[in-house]
Order: sequence, then C-alpha cells, then structure tokens
Amino acid sequence: MDYETFFSEQINQLKAEGRYRIFTKIKRDPGNFPKAFYYASPNSKPRDITVWCSNDYLGMGQHPSVLTAMKNALDHYGAGSGGTRNIAGNHYLLSELEEELASLHQKENGLLFSSGYVSNEAALGTLIRLLPNCVVYSDALNHASIIAAIRSSGAEKHIFRHNDVDHLQQLLGRTDKNRPKIIVFESVYSMDGDIAPISALCDLADQYNALTYLDEVHAVGMYGMHGGGISEEENLTSRLTIIEGTLGKAFGTMGGYITGSKTLIDVIRSYAPGFIFTTSLPPVIAAGALAAIRYLKHDHHLRIMQKNIVHQVKTKFIEAGLPLIPSTSHIVPLKIGDPIKCKKLADALLNDHGIYVQPINYPTVPRGTERLRITPTPLHTDFMINQLVDALIFEYQKLSLLKAA
Ligand code: PLP
Repeated sequence: MDYETFFSEQINQLKAEGRYRIFTKIKRDPGNFPKAFYYASPNSKPRDITVWCSNDYLGMGQHPSVLTAMKNALDHYGAGSGGTRNIAGNHYLLSELEEELASLHQKENGLLFSSGYVSNEAALGTLIRLLPNCVVYSDALNHASIIAAIRSSGAEKHIFRHNDVDHLQQLLGRTDKNRPKIIVFESVYSMDGDIAPISALCDLADQYNALTYLDEVHAVGMYGMHGGGISEEENLTSRLTIIEGTLGKAFGTMGGYITGSKTLIDVIRSYAPGFIFTTSLPPVIAAGALAAIRYLKHDHHLRIMQKNIVHQVKTKFIEAGLPLIPSTSHIVPLKIGDPIKCKKLADALLNDHGIYVQPINYPTVPRGTERLRITPTPLHTDFMINQLVDALIFEYQKLSLLKAA
C-alpha cells in the first residue's frame, strides 16, 4: 500500500467536503481575557482579537485566585505528579480536590482523570463492562467520549431521540426488567445549548431500575447555588448515580472527574485502565482547579454577570434578525447551514473584524446544521457585544444569509 497517498486522499476528502480543520494560532493574554492575539501566518505580527468561542466560560483561566494558587503550587511541588496514582503520583492535593468535587455534587466520593473525555471513556466504559449483560440507553446527541465508551464496551445499546423521554420509555419497556441498565445523558448540550429533562429521566430510571450517568461538563461552575451544575440547580443530585464533569471549561484549568457513591468510585478506581495506567494530574493543576471551584462555590457574581451578558447577546441577535438557534443556556448558536459559508463567515470575522468564533461543521453537528457557536462570558463588554452584532449582520448579508433590513 502507498500509505502517504492514502493519507492524502483522506485529507482531500475532508477538504472537498469543506470540513478540513485549520488551527487558529492565538496567544491568550491573562488579565485581558476575552482579548487575545492572533497570528494570521507563522511569521506575521500578532493581531489584537476578541475571543467569542472560549470554553473558559467564566474567565477563571486568568482569575487571580487560580493563578496565585498555581504559582504557589509550582514553587512548592514542582511541575509533574511523578507517576500514576497507584505507583508514585498520588499527591495529597489530588485527594483534596476529589473531596471538594464530591462535596460540590453532594456525593460520597470523587475520582480524577486526565480530561473530561478520558473520564467518560474510562468510567462509563468500565461501568458498562463490569455490569453483566448491561444495556445502555444513550441520548442521540451525547458527546463523542460517551459514544466511544459505549462502542468500545460492545454492550447492547439503544439511542433515544434527543431529550425525548417518551422514546426512552418505549425503549426501556422492551428490555428484560432484570437486566442491568444505564441511562446516559448530558445536562447542557454544548452545540444547541438546550437542557435535558433530568427529573423525568430519573423518574424512568427509578421505574426501570436503571443507573443514571450525567455529563455536566458544560454546566459545572455556572449553574446551581455553588456551581454544582443543573443537577444542583434542580435539586436532583441524589437521584443521579454518577455526575461527571470537567475542570477544563468553567473551572479554567484541565482534567475530568466523576462523583458517586463510595463503592462505585472504588470499583472504577480499581478497574478502569484509563485511570490506572496513566500519569496523574500535576499538583499545579489540582491547586488551580481547587481554587476555581472554591471561589465559584461561594461567589455568585460571575454567574450572574454571565447570565446578564448572555441575555443581552441573545436579545440583540433576535432584534437584528440573526438566526439564533433556540437555546436555554449560556451557549448561543447561530445557524448557517452550509459548511463552506460557515468557514468563510468565521474567517471574515477573524480577518476583517478581529472577532474569533469557530465554525462548527459536521461531524460535530449534523450536516445542514452548520453554525457559529458563541459563548459570552462575564468579561465581554457592551462595546464588544455591539461590535460582534454589527460584524455578524455585515457578514451574514454579504453571504446572502440574511435579508437586508
Ligand atoms: N463531555 C462533553 C459533553 C463535552 O462537550 C466535552 C468536551 O467538550 C467533554 C465531555 C470532554 O471534556 P474535556 O474537554 O475536559 O476533555
């Protein structure tokens, strides 16, 4: 086989479909977020831009409490963790962080992983494999990491229509009552910004004796009195078997975790290869995440400001006739419906207006629903919002995606 030709063909196929991804080279500027610098080409001078697509949803990646904690941890504990948790890398800060996460989600215990992706793949995959003859029920829009966990387990799976409780009930009703079952869903869906009917899903879990696995990656830090996510906001934590989250988005650092009962965490800790056979998170990261979680547990103003700014952005988009995809969360998607135009529009925003928004194309979203995904933060100003709206109107009109006013 001519491997190089084969690889080129694969790439050319992506290019032909308009979904070849190009990294946008930026330099973040702590203290000035959401401002950053953009490098249009390798040797070009950095240009000033406003970021509207960061998952550092609250700007905690530059928060003084987080930076101070990380600088101190670096000075005190060095760069890395020194190994896997079982062999040499069980720094006390990791245990402290797990206790904090368990308390955040009102669970007995927590367990850390290298990322949110790894936590889903390792924890969910292991749970499915451990339960004999397990059947999995998964929302149609669940994240790639959940799909990977289910697929690699080889277990029987049923995909229920997105947020469709009746469909899930039909599927559950067809399965032997005595087989172990897991219902897997997210709270905030990151591409549409809608929210799962968690309570109704838990009712079904009770009725059919199923475990529940909730991914709160796009909600932790931002929802609930203490940032425990939608399950905290809706007072449902006790009804969920596992609550999973990330430290990489609203908590501003990186890493993933699950929380649950003592026994359940112990079994995942003891059986999941994706936990056992990999170097643990560095103490620096644990210190930063701890500072972010503790800050957001007791300080509400960033959450409140984020809600206000999200509301302002959505209102201005609607007033301008921009095609807002209905969203009930902090995620603001704008429909384009064509991969080439989506990329073109995002390129124009960046190059001509200094506004950074990533085009979201297939396979991240279904073909024909290509979109811009905008994530307002508490740090975006009125000036930035107006600049964004004006630039969007101009570029949507240029591509005939918006009727001229
Ligand atoms: N779960 C969901 C729903 C996600 O959208 C993502 C990433 O965006 C992940 C898990 C993975 O989280 P992380 O970025 O920490 O790996």
